[in-house]
Amino acid sequence: MFNELAIPQRTIMTPGPVEAHPAVLQAMTRRILGQFDPAFLTIMDEVKEMIKQPFGTTNKEAFAIDGTSRSGLEAALIALIEPGDKVLIPAYGRFAYLLGEICERARAEVRYLEKEWTAPFAPDAVIAEIDAFNPKIVAMVHGETANGQMQPLAEIGQYCRANNIFFVVDMVATYGGVPLAVDEWCVDIAIAGTQKCLSVPSGLALVTYNDRVEDVLDARYQKELGLSKTDRNERHIASNYLDLSQLQRYWNQERINHHTEATSMIYALHEGLRVLLQEGLSEVYHRHARNEGALIAGLKAMGLNLYGAADTKMPTVTPVFIPEGIDGEAVRNMLLDDFGVEIASSFGDLKGKIWRIGNMGYSSRKENILHVLAALEGALLYHQAPIQSGQAVPAALRFYQNNI
Ligand SMILES: *Cc1c(COP(=O)(O)O)cnc(C)c1O
Repeated sequence: MFNELAIPQRTIMTPGPVEAHPAVLQAMTRRILGQFDPAFLTIMDEVKEMIKQPFGTTNKEAFAIDGTSRSGLEAALIALIEPGDKVLIPAYGRFAYLLGEICERARAEVRYLEKEWTAPFAPDAVIAEIDAFNPKIVAMVHGETANGQMQPLAEIGQYCRANNIFFVVDMVATYGGVPLAVDEWCVDIAIAGTQKCLSVPSGLALVTYNDRVEDVLDARYQKELGLSKTDRNERHIASNYLDLSQLQRYWNQERINHHTEATSMIYALHEGLRVLLQEGLSEVYHRHARNEGALIAGLKAMGLNLYGAADTKMPTVTPVFIPEGIDGEAVRNMLLDDFGVEIASSFGDLKGKIWRIGNMGYSSRKENILHVLAALEGALLYHQAPIQSGQAVPAALRFYQNNI
């Protein structure tokens, strides 16, 4: 016999997944509708419209893909790539290499422009490499979750547009937490996820794209064999499940059958977006910025140092150096086991050097910020780290008082 699920109480302060909004969890318990039930189609139509708002776009197309955020990244890239196409990947953190790996597997010719991870690129450096390499696609990450840095996109996007290059951007870790302007920044395809600032469980990717991309999709569209034996297309997209040209025709009024939509996840997404828009996007961004400010004030008052450039730091992730001589994993384990607080380690060269504290979505709340600061101070003192004691929580409280 197996026991019933036992889910412990947690304060999740990682860069995803974050605590799901209670209204989202409730939406997931609602009854199932058939995927072509008009009541469900209305929900899908509303989701399409709501997805566009945090992206800052008036694109016609925006919808969800069943799969985590990386399914959206893969769908976007393979929609554009045909074997031998040149893709430039400017990499200032871990997730850029994921974009590159997807492109390599799609048989693109990939060039990486690399730098150290403490800051994003100066736009000029990317533009110079575009001139040197002449790619068909530039693919970048807006917010690099592994190192907490955020790339200014407008100049690069405008240069790509002027030179007829596709600009694909991973906005997974900034969507719903930081103002985005997909249209103004000339992003052709933008991708987001659900388990970060949307406060929805992991399992869907969000995409939006413009007419330039739609033209490519139209040229590559192939109807599924079981639905038509005549509509063959030599240039068809290499995946069936992640074929944006088919997915678009399922999400729009043609309603051509593709997969069976994940009804409960779409309810969850609808509710996550609705709650976000009801709070108001500018209020949502202000809440994230305010909680970030309080967290930083507390960490600094403790005597801890932040990793990376301050002016390009993501509001949604705070990377902090593990104090000299302290076992970062022992502290993280104590936070989880004794305080019920989860923070993240990092990847690659940064593993063992920094922790990352998330500040995303429903987890971005004053009580969570105060809880993580108090717990971290307690665990660090227990491990005899040389920190200032008794300073962090009052500093955060003062920050809240001075920044309404
Ligand atoms: C979390 C994250 C991803 C991967 O998301 P999954 O939902 O785990 O597939 C990709 N890019 C960035 C920037 C992320 O933060």
